Amino acid sequence: MSNLSTAATAAGATFSLGHFVDGRHVPGTSGRSGPVYNPATGALRGHVAYASAEETRAAIAAAEAALPAWSAVPPLQRARVMFRFKALLEAHADELALTLTSEHGKVLSDARGELTRGLEVVEFACGIPQLLKSEFTENVGTGIDSWGIRQPVGVCAGITPFNFPAMVPMWMFPVAIACGNTFVLKPSEKDPSVPVRVAELLKEAGLPDGVFNVVNGDREAVDTLLTDPRVAAVSFVGSTPVAEYIYRTASAHGKRVQALGGAKNHMVVMPDADTRNAASALVGAAYGSAGERCMAISVAVAVGDAGDRLVAAVKEQLAELKVAPGTVERADMGPLVTREHLERVRGYVDLGVQEGAQLVVDGRGLRLTGHEQGYYLGPCLFDHVKPDMRIYREEIFGPVLCVVRVPDFETALGIVNAHEFGNGVAIFTASGEAARSFTQRVQAGMVGVNVPIPVPMAFHSFGGWKRSLFGPLHVHGPDGVRFYTRLKTVTSRWPTTAREGAQFVMPTMK
Ligand code: NAD
Repeated sequence: MSNLSTAATAAGATFSLGHFVDGRHVPGTSGRSGPVYNPATGALRGHVAYASAEETRAAIAAAEAALPAWSAVPPLQRARVMFRFKALLEAHADELALTLTSEHGKVLSDARGELTRGLEVVEFACGIPQLLKSEFTENVGTGIDSWGIRQPVGVCAGITPFNFPAMVPMWMFPVAIACGNTFVLKPSEKDPSVPVRVAELLKEAGLPDGVFNVVNGDREAVDTLLTDPRVAAVSFVGSTPVAEYIYRTASAHGKRVQALGGAKNHMVVMPDADTRNAASALVGAAYGSAGERCMAISVAVAVGDAGDRLVAAVKEQLAELKVAPGTVERADMGPLVTREHLERVRGYVDLGVQEGAQLVVDGRGLRLTGHEQGYYLGPCLFDHVKPDMRIYREEIFGPVLCVVRVPDFETALGIVNAHEFGNGVAIFTASGEAARSFTQRVQAGMVGVNVPIPVPMAFHSFGGWKRSLFGPLHVHGPDGVRFYTRLKTVTSRWPTTAREGAQFVMPTMK
């Protein structure tokens, strides 16, 4: 049934990817499409269709039609579909990871890690019968019982970024579907093949047609999802300006919204931290996936005399870092996702030099023999970065680490809290007191203590603070179940007396 990798991996051939609606592949009819490249080689893999408003509305209609039957399926049976889907994801992990690397560029081991983190949300969704159990109070008043029911919200939409084409959609739809909703996904147009393959696997797992649909495309598809009255809830992950637009537009159209935005994650390194361990953590967290992670560390805040030791240790480790196509064994870092993004990130490195930061490691000269058309940038390390520089304030989303030096803990905490983003943050220290004070006072949604990338597991919830998240609820875990269900509270009595008179006062329980 698979239509993507077969066409895409045949030498020289390119694919034409449409949509997946109502259990079927649907070719694009809008006449609009965009190219999909292999960032390791710069070669064209194929084209992806961009859905028109009409095509997007057809996907919403399929999801709406599937809703009554799917929401009536007992949670236990919905869970069984999730169990089968989990088994299929495991069986196809190598194939999915290869497709992911071929369109995103991240190294294969990282692609497998991404799939695992998505799979863990599927495992969480397998427990939906337990998660939907509600609270019951006998005798809230004499002869009166009360309980809550969590019911599906309806048709849900997901709009996702390029950097985790498997994991981020899986933050959303397994929980949404397990809760009894139907779903329309609009994945990134830069690496759309894995989401479509996932739709095929869901069908193979026994998910009824129309419960999960994929429309590929751009703003036209997104705007249709944000404004169509049949869509009840919108989950978004991407950059902050788009997240804010999604939040405002979908809210104005009466939908519940969770919109996760950009980040500038800091790692505070205290003078008592083990320098080598902190440097290793920093190198992995800053340069893994070429820095294209929303939880990547992009700023190290070196406290007191930690700076010289830390910069020297990071520089030493960067000399060993292997940049290569993601399919090469033991590659640490692959290319950036597109040529435009490469130019944008390189532009930030140029800007940092102009702004007066000290470029200790310059990756701009990197050339990979045999892969001259690939989108590679070597690791870049800036020292003595100041908080008023644009390279500090703005999200670069590439293999560029900024080191800011501060005299003490309070100054470090102050600059972290003053930043517009508050996604993830970490502190490296040997002091319990510093760690405790930091975790209590820092303004961020996810905090690591001697853990550089504190991504919550699937059974906790993931989300940032400040301009890294618009909306009250985080994704997956308990917040995911809250987001994809509506609470109904029932108060019930079965009077046995004969006629009762009308009551004109506010009812209170006796
Ligand atoms: P992006 O905002 O450019 O795109 C995200 C999605 O929105 C894509 O599906 C895209 O097609 C769509 N989109 C883009 N512009 C749009 C517009 N003007 N109107 C409507 N839809 C639009 O993000 P990206 O470049 O794909 O991903 C990188 C960004 O995502 C980074 O900022 C990163 O920090 C962020 N991100 C955040 C998290 C998080 O958990 N907070 C996780 C992953 C990525």
